[in-house]
Amino acid sequence: MPDSMPQLTLHDSRRRATVPFAPLDPGNVRVYYCGPTVYDLAHIGNLRAMMTADILVRLLRHLYPHVTYVRNITDVDDKINARARANGETIDSLTARTIRDFHDDLAAVGVLPPDVEPRATRHIAEMIALIECLIASGHAYEAQGHVLFAVARFPDYGALSGRSPDDLLAGARVEVAPYKRDAGDFVLWKPSEPGLPGWESPWGRGRPGWHIECSAMSHRYLGESFDIHGGGSDLLFPHHENELAQSQCCFPRGRFANHWVHNAMLLVNGEKMSKSLGNFLTIRDVLADTPAEALRLMLLHAQYRSVLNFTRAGLDEAKQTLNRFYRAVGDLPPDAAGPVPGAVVAAMCDDLNTPRALAEMHGLADRALAGDRGAARGLRAAGRLLGLLGQSADTWFRAGAGVGEAEIDALIAERLAARAARDFARADAIRAGLAERGIVLEDGAGGTIWRRA
Ligand SMILES: [Zn+2]
Repeated sequence: MPDSMPQLTLHDSRRRATVPFAPLDPGNVRVYYCGPTVYDLAHIGNLRAMMTADILVRLLRHLYPHVTYVRNITDVDDKINARARANGETIDSLTARTIRDFHDDLAAVGVLPPDVEPRATRHIAEMIALIECLIASGHAYEAQGHVLFAVARFPDYGALSGRSPDDLLAGARVEVAPYKRDAGDFVLWKPSEPGLPGWESPWGRGRPGWHIECSAMSHRYLGESFDIHGGGSDLLFPHHENELAQSQCCFPRGRFANHWVHNAMLLVNGEKMSKSLGNFLTIRDVLADTPAEALRLMLLHAQYRSVLNFTRAGLDEAKQTLNRFYRAVGDLPPDAAGPVPGAVVAAMCDDLNTPRALAEMHGLADRALAGDRGAARGLRAAGRLLGLLGQSADTWFRAGAGVGEAEIDALIAERLAARAARDFARADAIRAGLAERGIVLEDGAGGTIWRRA
């Protein structure tokens, strides 16, 4: 590791502090992220978690010689069973299609695939082994075909999410299943009725609970202790708390995850995204009229631990930024990147401070637009670190990718108004600005029409 290498600091949810990141093995940094439950298209809140993982892993790969990034797929779940039945299709067809769509959507936004993408249904034996270990050590019990984790047997339960036993009781003030000793006990294994996915086990034919899947798959590919476990803040409790409890009780000498990374939630127009509010957006909904790179850049506008407010104005701003960056790199091809400028690496090492990294890129663009080729190469390199600017400027502008139809219509209306007000300088500036972005205006008897050049 060169002396000049910047120190990465990351917020750790367990320590509730931003601390220097020190890998257990600098020769192989190990990262686990909870992947999707595959019953529907990924939404932009899911994307924010996958993007946080993506920029974290990209940075780790820049800093360390080798990174092992594991992101699982949950392909056995009650939601999957219910959706397949509602759709009138088989579970295999639903999960296969959803996994394909998930991969396509993430690839469109430049999210790199993990090194290992284990599927829960292919690791049932590992889950059964962990559950047997928990029963043997007195941390789990069998009741009415179910196996439950006994939270009372793990004194550290609640330490990760910072919940007190009282909070936990309040959270569990719902009808408690009769087979539970304690309201907070959670399912490791449950019986499966005929017609639903199930596997033979010491407790009869059944299927695993969600939490044990991640404990089993992270152990299989990353061992008893690994460096970083991440996911959305909505996973902190109960999912991650339960994963930690299971793994710590099975492997008391290990630490499970050394460092916990959680991204904040995403709002849409200032409100929590929900189907009932009509502001629920899948990745595909956004990509229908927005270049994927603009969506990616917009998700970097906020540091991952800040709430991100998704708006059309934010997407437009991202498009304008990309127009500016691509003008600044000019004819420099994507592979002509120089070293990543130190200020950009330093910003990313500051707990993935993407707003600061983008501000540094604007500074590089200033210099590049003033004719500094070195700054243009630095901008290309910074783009590569953040998964941006992967195409030639010509391709970006020729696709008219930076301009959406609504924006063009608005600019045409603004130009018309400017002409009516005899502000011909403004009208000409709008036409020239669009031309620079590959949009040609043609005035005719019927009004103004536009086409992509
Ligand atoms: Zn998980």
